[in-house]
Amino acid sequence: MMFSLEGKTALVTGASGGIGSSIAYALAKQGARLALSGSNGDKLRAFREQLIADVGGDHVEITCDLSNAEQVEELIPATIETLGTMDILVNNAGITRDNLAMRMKDEEWDQVIRINLEASFRLMRAAARPMMKARGGRIVSITSVVGHTGNPGQMNYVAAKAGLTGMTKSLAQELASRNITVNCVAPGFIRTAMTDALDDKQKDAINGRIPMARMGEGEEVAAAVTYLASDEAAYVTGQTLHVNGGMAMMG
Ligand code: NAP
Repeated sequence: MMFSLEGKTALVTGASGGIGSSIAYALAKQGARLALSGSNGDKLRAFREQLIADVGGDHVEITCDLSNAEQVEELIPATIETLGTMDILVNNAGITRDNLAMRMKDEEWDQVIRINLEASFRLMRAAARPMMKARGGRIVSITSVVGHTGNPGQMNYVAAKAGLTGMTKSLAQELASRNITVNCVAPGFIRTAMTDALDDKQKDAINGRIPMARMGEGEEVAAAVTYLASDEAAYVTGQTLHVNGGMAMMG
């Protein structure tokens, strides 16, 4: 079967979230064994039970607050201790704290940089050694179309996502000779609980900017992650796969 992840292990951060849950389902359906991570233990446990009921497999949950550096440093060792290996790292967790630049508080900047950028750096750094020892690995980070286009009210978020894209290119060059690929998936507007809360006028305004005239689905982001995590994507590294309905067409 193409894109099989049979026998592989993966850590997914933000696994109980809108896009993270789609990624977890997609990887589990391809046969991967998962460590599901998030800061909310109750949400995570309920999600893991549902995932196992729906797809089967023997998945675990590891609670970790990504705003806490000490906890972040423990996440990869805990994953390897629990699963035995870690073939795939998916940096999916992310938050927004939107504000116009002139009103943006230090705390809004710090939180977004800490969770969306710094935690990803720590996880990538920690994943590099075991992946090098294993002579292979996959790192996929979820960025955003706005990390490439900019967006008013999101200086912090755009800085973090553009930073993550740049970090990915550097690490991809460091690890390429070891058969470890490092890539990003950049979603456009994806239908989640957050976008469901918008009214019809707001949704129409968004859809008007998208050639496909609709928001994307979590499954459509997850399919891109599955591809980049698979053996078939062995020759693709340092890249961003854009999943945005044509909203922005990057070279
Ligand atoms: P979401 O539903 O809000 O999920 C975010 C996830 O991040 C949650 O599972 C949450 O887990 C986790 N998280 C938040 N703060 C955390 C912390 N301090 N420590 C550990 N985990 C934390 O968001 P989403 O829409 O699925 O977004 C997933 C990724 O896609 C993000 O990186 C986002 O920037 C990106 N993205 C989304 C869209 C979109 O349209 N939705 C577009 C482009 C990019 P807990 O609740 O357990 O803390």
